Amino acid sequence: MMPFQPLDRDQPDVIMMCRNCQAEWLIYEQQIGLSMPCPACHSVVHPQYQGRTKGEGHGCQLSFSTFKRLLNTPDTSAEFIRLVEHLLDLRHEGGLCFVNVSGHEVEAEEAHYRIQSQEASQGAMYNRAMNIIR
Ligand SMILES: [Zn+2]
Repeated sequence: MMPFQPLDRDQPDVIMMCRNCQAEWLIYEQQIGLSMPCPACHSVVHPQYQGRTKGEGHGCQLSFSTFKRLLNTPDTSAEFIRLVEHLLDLRHEGGLCFVNVSGHEVEAEEAHYRIQSQEASQGAMYNRAMNIIR
C-alpha cells in the first residue's frame, strides 16, 4: 500500500497513547481510527486518543474513523461513496472495498490516504462530510 503523503500544511498534532506501555506520540488527524504499531514497544494496538497539541481548530483533514463511518451511514453513504468514486476514479464494491479501472482492489485506508494527499480532493471531501454530519 502507498505510504501516507500528507500535505505540507497538515501537521501531526493528535496525541495518542499506547494501551500497552503508555508511551505517547503524535499522529495526523487522518490517522485517527487506524491501528498502528507503538513506536516504543512496537505492539500493534488501537492507541488511545489523548487530545491535540494545539487544541481544536484544524484544517480540512478528515479522520479515518469518520471516513469509515460515512461509508457506512445509511441514507448518506451513497452520496459520500459517489464522491470517493469520482475523486479517485474508483468503483465501490461494497463495504470498505473499492476497485480501480483495472479491476484491482483499493482498500478504504489507501483511498482515504490518496484523497488526503491532494488539496483539492481533501477540501471536496471535507465539505461533503460537513454537509452530511451537520
Ligand atoms: Zn507501547
